[in-house]
Amino acid sequence: MSGFWSDRRVHLREPNLLYIDGQWSDASSGSAIEMVSPSDEEIHSRVAEASSADVDRAVVAARRAFDEGPWPRLTPAERAAVLRRFAAGLRARSDEFAAAWSLQTGVPTTIARHALTNPGQMYDYYADLIESEQLVTVTRRDSGGHAIIAREPVGVVAAITPWNHPSHLMALKVAPALAMGCTVVAKPAPESPLDVFILAEVAENVGMPAGVFNIVPCGREASEYLVSHPGIDKASFTGSAATGARIASICASRMARSSMELGGKSAAIVLDDIPVDQVVATLVDGGGVRMAGQGCAFLTRVLVSRKRRDELAEAYAEKLRGIMIGHAFDPATQMGPIAMKRQLDKVMGYIAKGRAEGARILTGGGRPKKLAGVPEGKGFFVEPTLFVDVTNDMTIAQEEIFGPVIAMIAYDDEAEAIRIANDSPYGLNGAVYTNDAEKAYAIGRQVRVGNFSHNGLEHDSKYPFGGYKLSGTGREGGPYGLDIYTEVKTLYMPEPPACAA
Ligand code: NAD
Repeated sequence: MSGFWSDRRVHLREPNLLYIDGQWSDASSGSAIEMVSPSDEEIHSRVAEASSADVDRAVVAARRAFDEGPWPRLTPAERAAVLRRFAAGLRARSDEFAAAWSLQTGVPTTIARHALTNPGQMYDYYADLIESEQLVTVTRRDSGGHAIIAREPVGVVAAITPWNHPSHLMALKVAPALAMGCTVVAKPAPESPLDVFILAEVAENVGMPAGVFNIVPCGREASEYLVSHPGIDKASFTGSAATGARIASICASRMARSSMELGGKSAAIVLDDIPVDQVVATLVDGGGVRMAGQGCAFLTRVLVSRKRRDELAEAYAEKLRGIMIGHAFDPATQMGPIAMKRQLDKVMGYIAKGRAEGARILTGGGRPKKLAGVPEGKGFFVEPTLFVDVTNDMTIAQEEIFGPVIAMIAYDDEAEAIRIANDSPYGLNGAVYTNDAEKAYAIGRQVRVGNFSHNGLEHDSKYPFGGYKLSGTGREGGPYGLDIYTEVKTLYMPEPPACAA
């Protein structure tokens, strides 16, 4: 094991068992998931792998906990109290969540530690929210009598996440689902399952009732069994558009609910009034380069006027050339590896395709040769890459690459910039760079995306996040994040009962 991370382990109590129905139990097949470090290709962890039989046990337990158990029947304040204890338990293990993120995905430790100082945050947030939300509203009908509108939990939730930001993406699902009174079967990506083991340990420690939170780390087959299971009321999915479409169609066939947080190919529109220095100061981070491009919302298309394209391209390339690539646990590293070999191959395939279709590489395009602290020839590293002379019909402008690859596209006027931004199957995120706030707002309203920022890339989980078009359905974050775990019931009564009045 190479030097950087020998002391940065995640200390799981029961990595070889599954947490189902409030108990740690053997995986029925006895098989394990083995995880390879993207920084040096050594195996860093092994955990139990759930089979369809284990998924079945988990759904039955979650079903029972929902239909017969205390959780949905507790008052919001009682559930909030458990969620706050849960949040405190997660907070106490912040360092392990940060280490798990870097270990599994190659995100630099400096970024992981900064972003995960409070992994309990969303649980505290939804604990506060559920106590203040009005869940029952009594109205007097025009025709006489009363209508009582009750917001109720949607039921048993399958929470399925991708590999790139495991604890955060799971929190965006589990926190509102539990707050609302749902029970959960958590299905992490097989490349980054460590986090749900910590969640399960903390759930057990804080006395969450049996069956309320269950974990089934598994691959595609058992995961598809999970969303097909008649005991599941709702699939909450984050991942690729292709998988999302598959899961949504499975759910639709039996009218199970689903919400989808899918991919993106987001555009930053750079207007002419803003100095290039001011733009590149935040545009490189907005492009997600320091995360090796492994995020859904990054600004991977840069739209610039034809007259300023060379100036912006050179300034952007200069920033990329200065990024220190290295082992995820080296504190000097500014950009780590791609999380896995298959994703690296995919990224290199897109780079080859960009070249073949006539785009020009201004910087990057290859694999770094020798990196400090990384055994020679090891690690899934790729250089930050800037393509210029890109047209929006090229594959690298249309498809999500999920790597540190930026496509710069020239426009003739602002109307064309908006048209190019919208000429995408995706609609997740966008940004405009200008010092004219009126124009920023006007452009923001014309770009068909779920999130849009002025002069940077902003994200705040207390506000709705989600996509238009192929980027998904539903919104996570903030009060909207509760709606996707909610059914709405209307009760007609001549007189409302005292408890609802
Ligand atoms: P993926 O779609 O391959 O897998 C996501 C999850 O679905 C994994 O847990 C996987 O095991 C599971 N899965 C795969 N096939 C399944 C099936 N047939 N039935 C049920 N489950 C199945 O995605 P990935 O490669 O892990 O992650 C990258 C993708 O996630 C990118 O497209 C990225 O844009 C997207 N993403 C979106 C958001 C967002 O909030 N919009 C956030 C992060 C990542």
